[in-house]
Amino acid sequence: MASQVGIEKSRVYEVNKSVDTNAANAYVTGIGATKRIVIWDTAIQQQSEDQLLFLVGHEIGHYVLNHPWWIVLFFTLIFIVTLFLISLVGEWCLGTFKHRFGFEAMSTIASLPLLFFLYGIFSILLAPIGNLFSQKIEHDAEPLV
Ligand SMILES: [Zn+2]
Repeated sequence: MASQVGIEKSRVYEVNKSVDTNAANAYVTGIGATKRIVIWDTAIQQQSEDQLLFLVGHEIGHYVLNHPWWIVLFFTLIFIVTLFLISLVGEWCLGTFKHRFGFEAMSTIASLPLLFFLYGIFSILLAPIGNLFSQKIEHDAEPLV
């Protein structure tokens, strides 16, 4: 299947996970020369031929659509947006509550708890966007049947 869409055989790995677990899994990982499809031997052992073809077709979808790169790009962008929002709200918090905080700049080590608190808040608020992105790439990787 992989060679039909131009993926070299050396880019498809079967790993011996049955020594560790009974769970089945497959995934695409790496970027550039390390990009590869990894299929656990447990998936090969436990699934019917049709299920395995669907699973491998799904991973090939991720591979040919360069999803590892898109994931890196997307989550880097989300992280930058999160840092920008922390900066905006952090400065607002300092302007409003600096007498209670005991520090006057986000650049001091004393602001670390506030920074972590805001990161937690914005991570939760932005999680649905990340989930939508994940849902889209999972849908796009589905083989056409
Ligand atoms: Zn997937």
